[in-house]
Amino acid sequence: MSTYAEALMSDVQTKNPAEPEFHQAVEEVVESLVAVVDRHPEYRSAKVLERLIEPERVVMFRVPWIDDQGDVRVNRGFRIEMNSAIGPYKGGLRFHPSVNLGILKFLAFEQVFKNSLTTLPLGGGKGGSDFDPKGKSDIEVMRFCQSFMTELFRHIGHNTDVPAGDIGVGGREIGFLFGQYKRIVNEFTGVLTGKGRNWGGSLIRPEATGYGAVYFAANMLETRDESLEGKTCLVSGSGNVAQFATEKLSALGAKVVTLSDSSGYIHDPDGIDEAKLAWVMALKNERRGRIAEYADEFSGASYVEHDPNLDHNPIWSHAADCAFPCATQNEINERDAKHLLDGGVTVVSEGANMPSDAKAVDHFIDRKILFGPGKAANAGGVAVSGLEMAQNSMRYSWTREEVDERLKLIMKDIHTATVDAAERFDVKGNYVAGANIAGFLKVADAMLDQGIV
Ligand code: NDP
Repeated sequence: MSTYAEALMSDVQTKNPAEPEFHQAVEEVVESLVAVVDRHPEYRSAKVLERLIEPERVVMFRVPWIDDQGDVRVNRGFRIEMNSAIGPYKGGLRFHPSVNLGILKFLAFEQVFKNSLTTLPLGGGKGGSDFDPKGKSDIEVMRFCQSFMTELFRHIGHNTDVPAGDIGVGGREIGFLFGQYKRIVNEFTGVLTGKGRNWGGSLIRPEATGYGAVYFAANMLETRDESLEGKTCLVSGSGNVAQFATEKLSALGAKVVTLSDSSGYIHDPDGIDEAKLAWVMALKNERRGRIAEYADEFSGASYVEHDPNLDHNPIWSHAADCAFPCATQNEINERDAKHLLDGGVTVVSEGANMPSDAKAVDHFIDRKILFGPGKAANAGGVAVSGLEMAQNSMRYSWTREEVDERLKLIMKDIHTATVDAAERFDVKGNYVAGANIAGFLKVADAMLDQGIV
């Protein structure tokens, strides 16, 4: 690391103690950008990087609600408004007990670069709560969402900040949040994306992140004259992103053999076909059950319980050609990365945000596999959110085919921008550096144009 990068990182660590995920995300970006700031001293003198790592605004608030037993519960709510140089803040809301300030800052920071890569005018933000929707009744989730929005509404707006879903926030939660916003503000606007189809949602928005990660993998494979057809794939997670990555992979002739949740993973050597995936979707989206049930339902499949004492994640030890981590951050460590490569994997496309830790990423890059970092590979979700905002502004809806075509084009453009930026800065084939550089340049130039703000 250069002295400049070292000084910057030391500052980040001192100013933001106990936020390891934020440090990790910043370090990866700063390492990629050293060559850029060396070549462009104007970014350095305007302290663009120093400003980028400081959120424009952080809102933290109390979320009181009443459970079905009549007891008062108190959660903590957050919204990180990271950067608005190229458009209104945009990024999901995460409801998960692990949520804290550092995790949301890492996600908001990554979102700035990702949104810039989509080619759409979107700034970066992220938010959420340590509320756990698991095991709560629909009415409890509604009460929580209404209380959360009763504070959040004053900080957001269709030209200011437009949240969407993330872990633990799907169509049900977006519905409750939107209903409460509309009730308080007395306005029907596109203030959230991921809305229901008949009240302003875009077709393909639920599918977009998973589909996009698969399109990105196909784009990477094309550079080696290969396709996804006939490839065996490991997918982690079994939520929104994992489900639609699996759907698109099967449609393109690949075979998905794993899925997981926070309790464990299933391995099905026969592949998770359309009918099995429909069963998983009903299990996860309607019955809200555990993935373990898959192995009872389908013969030939096995279930492995999550073991917190293991120093690796056994889902990544199965033989395969491609891996799509679609659950959560840091689910692939260096050991897992080695297992993946030993098992034959040559393509990793990150559906989740930062699922590979720093050493795993280094291993993928050293071994020159096709590694698509989340910032680029999972940008399809926010891209279609951007398309949802455009449709809301026009009060018009595009067809499923039109949105899917735009999504494919955007993923291709992101791939091209990433490859080109890597080449221009002498790191050919390195998608991590390419995505960081391409995402950075657009935001940095806008920040230079807008003065010291
Ligand atoms: P969902 O809540 O729909 O699904 C998350 C899945 O990951 C579930 O299977 C969940 O298991 C599992 N999971 C969550 N936390 C953990 C954990 N700590 N350890 C192991 N497994 C875990 O979320 P999404 O599918 O929307 O999001 C998945 C990833 O994709 C996240 O990293 C998110 O930030 C990223 N992403 C999502 C986008 C979107 O459009 N939704 C856009 C871009 C990125 P369980 O059911 O047990 O909780």
